[in-house]
Amino acid sequence: MNPTLTLPPAAVTSPWTAAERELGYHAGGPVNLGWLTSDRICALGRGAHPALIWEDSQGRQRRYTFDDLRRLSDAAAAFLARQQIGAGERVCLFLDRVPELYFAFLGILKLGAIVQPLFSAFGEDSLWTRLEDAGTAAVVTQRRHLGKVRRIRSRLPALRQVVVVDADGLALEPGEVALALEREPEAEGFPVYPATAETPSVLHYTSGTTGKPKGAQHVHGALVGQFQTARVALDLRPDDVYWCNADPGWVTGTSYGILGPWSNGVTQVVLDSGFNAARWYEVIARHRVTVWYSAPTAIRLLMREGSGLARAHDLGSLRHLASVGEPLNPEAVIWSRETFGRPFHDTYWQTETGCIVIANLPGLEIKPGSMGKPFPGVTATVLDPVRLEPIGERGRVGLIALRPDWPSMMRGYWGNRTAYESRFRNGWYLTGDRASIDGDGYFWFVGRDDDVINTGGHLVGPFEIESALLEHAAVAESAAVAKPDAVNMEVVKCFVVLKPGFVPSDDLELEIMNGLRRRLSPLAMPQEIEFTDSLPKTRSGKIVRRVLRAREFGEPLGDLSTLMEE
Ligand code: AMP
Repeated sequence: MNPTLTLPPAAVTSPWTAAERELGYHAGGPVNLGWLTSDRICALGRGAHPALIWEDSQGRQRRYTFDDLRRLSDAAAAFLARQQIGAGERVCLFLDRVPELYFAFLGILKLGAIVQPLFSAFGEDSLWTRLEDAGTAAVVTQRRHLGKVRRIRSRLPALRQVVVVDADGLALEPGEVALALEREPEAEGFPVYPATAETPSVLHYTSGTTGKPKGAQHVHGALVGQFQTARVALDLRPDDVYWCNADPGWVTGTSYGILGPWSNGVTQVVLDSGFNAARWYEVIARHRVTVWYSAPTAIRLLMREGSGLARAHDLGSLRHLASVGEPLNPEAVIWSRETFGRPFHDTYWQTETGCIVIANLPGLEIKPGSMGKPFPGVTATVLDPVRLEPIGERGRVGLIALRPDWPSMMRGYWGNRTAYESRFRNGWYLTGDRASIDGDGYFWFVGRDDDVINTGGHLVGPFEIESALLEHAAVAESAAVAKPDAVNMEVVKCFVVLKPGFVPSDDLELEIMNGLRRRLSPLAMPQEIEFTDSLPKTRSGKIVRRVLRAREFGEPLGDLSTLMEE
């Protein structure tokens, strides 16, 4: 592929057109994600620029340039080709955030195969469900997760090859093969698969409210959206050092933990370790991180540790902070402004949308609690839940809907056309979330379509209650869910995790209730507060209210496979 393709003299009419031109893409032309994020950067003269700064829980560090990325992803592609893995086959990455994950990710795409990243913390059942659904041909894993793969392998007839990236000294079984990328022969000039915009690329599994997890199928052309949103919404510039906290098992960890930054030639930091506030601040200080993409739960955990810890580190390199995944409480925006001297910018999107679709763009005035405005090039609205037509009226809650015409939109759920089609009505893609739009065009998230509490015919958003709860000094985290009620249909019940040093008591409950009464409408007042040690969360850290709600309603809990706790 040629980095300096001759482009037709098209008028630049949208942000996507401009991004296409910069990526050297023209309709029908080749657009291989693996090549565009490594070889292309080298061809632009930035091969020696650092691509990956990696650290693990023991403080081990490794550094790789874009030229390393190009070379090692070529080697991974050549290795998989030798294992008879071909274009269109699904290759699962079942790895911690080790460097091999990133090289294999790009290598699989260079080969034209479909990459299926899964959280390495998944148990056997969760893993089996997703490998079986996708008919996965190969799994790339490491010794500490190999046992799980071995135990389910006999129930996966499509699985031909298990690749182990740290197999030195390990007795491999038939159908297993060792891959030591650093020792692989040079694969210079590997024939990169000539993917077009519609060639399948990444398959991300996401849990719905009902049914088994669904694989959202993305395509190579999605890069146009990821490239542009990374640059504009995350404010990435060529000499940034960028840190995205997300694991590639979640779409944020691929769209903005691999594709967005590297297609922009930006250095990124990867920490293969769990949450630890002091460690996180050390990482920012040590590597002079300039752009940080995090999530509300992490921010709340940092808030719990207090500003003092942040101030004890030199965080002056930070220029832009952004958040995704769940509602960002106004309190978190204000706290980050006070603590880091800059606010977190909320961004909204989903596994299905592939890239940010609504955001507080740099330069846009932040209204704390609002997720901002549609990204230029995305048409977003809220629909009346019954008519499924745009509401028009400002401030009224409806279903967030998008015109499905931006480049990164999923192209289907793997093998589940019915579920895919059920997401579209009247030319709109239904996100399954609710929000209102204010007079200035800002979107205000209310909750998942199924989390909104309907009390006496009035819709109450859990986010509003949880934000109010967080303002109490004792509250670390909370979840507000519906509880059945004979008169009002539903009432509000809150689950509250207390900060260290606070103990549950009737007096404390009364005090919290009194605090809420001042902040919320009487309709939103909880009927009950239950103190708990932890809340059920997805592996990406999102509180799963539906589990709590289902318990209150005595309903089945649904798919729990992505939950961290339970
Ligand atoms: P996922 O597909 O796992 O990334 O989850 C997408 C869902 O997370 C969305 O449909 C929302 O319910 C929620 N979400 C993502 N970003 C935000 C945000 N900025 N504010 C509120 N909810 C969000």
